[in-house]
Amino acid sequence: MSGSMSRRQAIEAVTTYEMECDGFPEPLADTFGRNVFTLSAMKTRLPKHVFKAVAATIDKGVPLDPTLADYVASAMKDWAIEKGASHYAHVFYPLTGFTAEKHDSFLEPDGADGSLAEFAGKTLLQGEPDASSFPNGGLRGTFEARGYTGWDVTSPAYILENPNGNTLCIPTIFISWTGEALDKKVPLLRSQQAMSKQAMRVLRLFGHEDVDTVVSYAGPEQEYFLIDRHFYFARPDLMTTNRTLFGAKPSKGQEFDDHYFGAIPDRVLAFMIELDRELFKQAIPAKTRHNEVAPGQFEIAPVFERSNIAHDHQQLMMTTIKKVAERYGMIALLHEKPFAGVNGSGKHVNFSMGNSNQGNLLNPGDTPHENEQFLVFCAAIIRGVHKYGGLLRASIASASNDHRLGANEAPPAIISIFLGEQLSDIFDQIAKGGAKESKTSGVIELGVDTLPPFKADAGDRNRTSPFAFTGNRFEFRAPGSNQSIADPMIAINAMLADSLEYVADFLDKEIAAGTEFHAAVQKLLEGIITEHGKVVFNGNGYSDEWQEEAASRGLLNLRTTVDAMEQYDLPEIKEVFSKYGILSERELEARKDVVLEQYSLALLVEAKETLEIAKTMILPAATRYMGELASTAASLKAAGIEMETPALGTMTGKVSELNAAMDTLESAIEGFHGETVEEESEYALKSLIPAMNGVRDVSDALEGVVADDLWPLPTYNEMLTIL
Ligand code: ADP
Ligand code: MG
Repeated sequence: MSGSMSRRQAIEAVTTYEMECDGFPEPLADTFGRNVFTLSAMKTRLPKHVFKAVAATIDKGVPLDPTLADYVASAMKDWAIEKGASHYAHVFYPLTGFTAEKHDSFLEPDGADGSLAEFAGKTLLQGEPDASSFPNGGLRGTFEARGYTGWDVTSPAYILENPNGNTLCIPTIFISWTGEALDKKVPLLRSQQAMSKQAMRVLRLFGHEDVDTVVSYAGPEQEYFLIDRHFYFARPDLMTTNRTLFGAKPSKGQEFDDHYFGAIPDRVLAFMIELDRELFKQAIPAKTRHNEVAPGQFEIAPVFERSNIAHDHQQLMMTTIKKVAERYGMIALLHEKPFAGVNGSGKHVNFSMGNSNQGNLLNPGDTPHENEQFLVFCAAIIRGVHKYGGLLRASIASASNDHRLGANEAPPAIISIFLGEQLSDIFDQIAKGGAKESKTSGVIELGVDTLPPFKADAGDRNRTSPFAFTGNRFEFRAPGSNQSIADPMIAINAMLADSLEYVADFLDKEIAAGTEFHAAVQKLLEGIITEHGKVVFNGNGYSDEWQEEAASRGLLNLRTTVDAMEQYDLPEIKEVFSKYGILSERELEARKDVVLEQYSLALLVEAKETLEIAKTMILPAATRYMGELASTAASLKAAGIEMETPALGTMTGKVSELNAAMDTLESAIEGFHGETVEEESEYALKSLIPAMNGVRDVSDALEGVVADDLWPLPTYNEMLTIL
């Protein structure tokens, strides 16, 4: 397939683009939460006892009496109809990481000659979308079509606007007829509950009698690229695979770092402002926006929220980014590595845990060495990351994220933890018998009388660590831009549940044996840091030395998705999921199958597209140019002019290289096989990737030789400059 637009037409269209803006309809702040069936909207519309019950479910995880659903459904329907909704949709999050929705009309024939708006409690509670075409890793055959969506009371319903009519969206979970999880939400909620239970045990040991829940919070930073839509339509590789399968490095890339935090172009800023407004309507607390490192790359981060809400909001944010970009004639690329040789896009997941009584449990305070409770939670995380580094790596595995990890732009595939100077020092003291002091950073004097002194943070930042402490939270920096945050949050909650259970058991036992509480805590911390301190690394994660050092510390370095997925076969990984009821063995196995299936499918599609473009666009351009060179040489010769034609020699050589590489790729595609998903993905890794790279290498070299007016694909320079 060739692009629907030629490179020339695209450039023409891009340079004549004029932005259309409606201007500001209303202040941003006034729009916040306008399209959400919030707790306060419920309060005004529900009978008191119903509202109380729903609020208790949302805040404290108390089970909701299903007989109350009729009240909620009716209030929700009235609210939605007032907002212009004619339909409702159960929104769910299948294993592919996308967002899925099935729409139904509120209207039902009334049996006479009209129709009634109906929405009963049972319709709110449960839907049956069929949805049998979603990959399920063997959890159900297509003949077992039944799958159910179920209302997730903890996540608010919202209105999705469209100029032709609105839809009430209800966040749901998605399970099979046998009750097995077919989505990312069920295990996220289960993992959250498991973590909460163990965290409460620990808090009670610290004397907090008033704990009723502990939740995990997530603040995902989303990176993305913007390109003009005309370039997108001139790049069949972007259209089918969301990444460029060809393209020589631009002569000026990101080496000047002149894009990072640079002035935001007007068109992009207009997009960002409208994006914020759309997100605000959905009560998604968009907070920061800026240019990222690579040209054409940007970032948006919301204020952190409870991880289940943050998850749903993040999914909606990805969809909204794409939608709003189109209104400004742009395509948002959320792929982890759309442009080779240019930084890829990640989604840093900042997380912490806490509740309204005890606050953020990862807040170290001013003198962390005395803050035993903080140190215990921090130690639990250190232990978790050490024990479950492989699981964390597996939780973010995909064909596209493999391009980033370990490529000196994102953390390496080795999962280590960064504590910073102050905390590392405290744990060193603990390992030697007890922490006596917290290093402070003091004040930065600037030597300019008019500038007030700065208070420095106790620790510096480390941008190369996959799992970094950043003052009052940890930042998991390995997730990819296109990924759901559910998988990393499930892994984090699971490792926390395991570590906190260990902590609570340890302290219970010591106390029962008569050890004084503070002595028991010191013993616990000392034991954890001695056994798991190896996972702490504050140095440069991009360096070659770290690769060696990490190997000598016995840390895993799982470079590809194929390596990472083997983690799901390990007994200790199956165990941590099953013992807390997060995922049964069958459910875990299904997830592994889906990841591997997506992996090999993605690579197979890329391989086919590479071959297609090479055949129908690159080779024709190259042979045309060769023809031009040859006929020029012949005319010169006929005119009696003797001249060297090195370009012709180069072209002939390159074209035969290209033909050979294409043959190799074609056979690799034809040979794609495997009895199992493991074998297929192994084949994709070992045969398809190298064969694709072979075709790309020659083609990219040709881009530097073939006459520019004959080159069919928009270049990196062209695409990465947003006008
Ligand atoms: P940076 O780029 O410096 O890491 P950003 O401001 O881009 O910081 O993003 C930081 C993210 O971390 C935001 O989403 C923010 O809400 C989130 N965050 C801040 N504090 C916490 C916390 N206690 N728990 C979870 N996330 C947090
Ligand atoms: Mg960050």
